[in-house]
Order: sequence, then structure tokens, then C-alpha cells
Amino acid sequence: MDTRITNNSTIKWGLYENLRPCQIEAIINEKAIAYLPWGAIEYHGKHNPVGLDSIKAFHLCVDLAKEVGGLVFPTVNLAANLIKSYPGVNFPKHSIEFSEKLIRMVCEEYFEQLVLQDFKIIVLLSGHAGEPHLEILRTVAHEFNERYPDICFWAFAEFDVLPNDLLVANHSALGETSLQLYYNPDTVNLNSLPKDRPISLEVDAVSGKDPRGATKELGEKIVKSYLKNTSVILEELIRKYL
Ligand SMILES: [Zn+2]
Repeated sequence: MDTRITNNSTIKWGLYENLRPCQIEAIINEKAIAYLPWGAIEYHGKHNPVGLDSIKAFHLCVDLAKEVGGLVFPTVNLAANLIKSYPGVNFPKHSIEFSEKLIRMVCEEYFEQLVLQDFKIIVLLSGHAGEPHLEILRTVAHEFNERYPDICFWAFAEFDVLPNDLLVANHSALGETSLQLYYNPDTVNLNSLPKDRPISLEVDAVSGKDPRGATKELGEKIVKSYLKNTSVILEELIRKYL
């Protein structure tokens, strides 16, 4: 269990798998919020690690839990609709892909389990924006909100809470690469990107703005804005559901 002192209160948060029952209960009694980072093992070009979506989702959940309180679950490294099966490109290696059916099933069963553990707000952050993968998670959350009106299920991607000029859905482009540089700089190799030609989806596995301009500072700016916006949303949910 970890605590953090803010202006006027102590924020209790922790990594679920590291805690003993009494520590878990101490946090749930105060903030019954579960964070479920949902990632992917997916080819992200030569410049980024294959676990980028998972690393990103995990850290964004931890940072939010530090701000608001609650328990962060281990990252779910299961995703459908990866670049491996994207039409018009040929990247068969370094992606571990699962069926849409399995994604829906895991999400449903995970939500049911979290309900049984008395969580009142369940925050699912998807680091992978492939479709319909992301839409499946959103749909299951919607169905559970109808099924359990006293519990909030919020499934989203980080770009949902950010203005488009700061971050949009992208694959290993400026946004994701900057976030990776911020959270885990040693895993990024910008030198592996070409210097003499435009970046493309077909050759570089990049979808979105040119990652050659990626910086740790931009990553930090994205994270700060994300934290500001998600905290406001969560505080509102806390007033309503806790
Ligand atoms: Zn990604």
C-alpha cells in the first residue's frame, strides 16, 4: 500500500497484487475504485517496444490512482484487432492477437469479479485503440452500467479525455512515442527511424503524426493534461457512486 499526502488529505492507493487483505480493505473502505489497465502485445515499429500499449495503460492508471486513490489491477495483456491483421499492411511478427469473442468474455468476467469484490467505480483504461477491440470494451461497460445502476463502469482510451491538438488515436506515432519516452525512455530508439524519407504506415508501422519529433516533454504535457481531466471526471463519479 502506498499513500500520498495532498493539500488536505491522504490519498490511499496500491497495486492490488502486492497487497494483503487488510491493506486492500483499508483502501476499498475509503475509495472503492478499481483501475484495470488493458494493454496489448503488438508490433509498434522498430522504434518502440511491443508492450507500449500495456506500459502506457499501466502507468496512466497508476498516476491516476496516486491522484484520486484506489487499487490498480495487473495489466490485461490481451487484445484483438492488432496491426498484424490490419488490411493493406504486412507485419505478421511480434504481435500476440486474440479473438474479439475472447476480449468480450474476459471483460465481462473481469467486471463480474470486480463487482463481487465490492468496487463501486471500475475504470478500464485501454492502451490499444484498434477497432472493434476498443468498442467491445466500451459496449461491455455500457451493458454493465445498465445491469448494475449503483456501480459505474468507465471504459475509455487516454485520447478520449484530451483535446485533439494534444492527442488523437495513433499507432506508434508522435503521441504514443512521446508517452513511451516519458514513462520508459530506455525502451525507445528514435535512431531506428529513417532520416531521409517520410514515415509511412506500410513501412514503419506508424499511423499518425511523425514520431521523429517525439519528446519526453510532450509526453509529460499529455500526461498532465490527462490527469487533470480524468481527475475532474472521477471526482464527479465519486460524488455520485461512493
Ligand atoms: Zn499502441
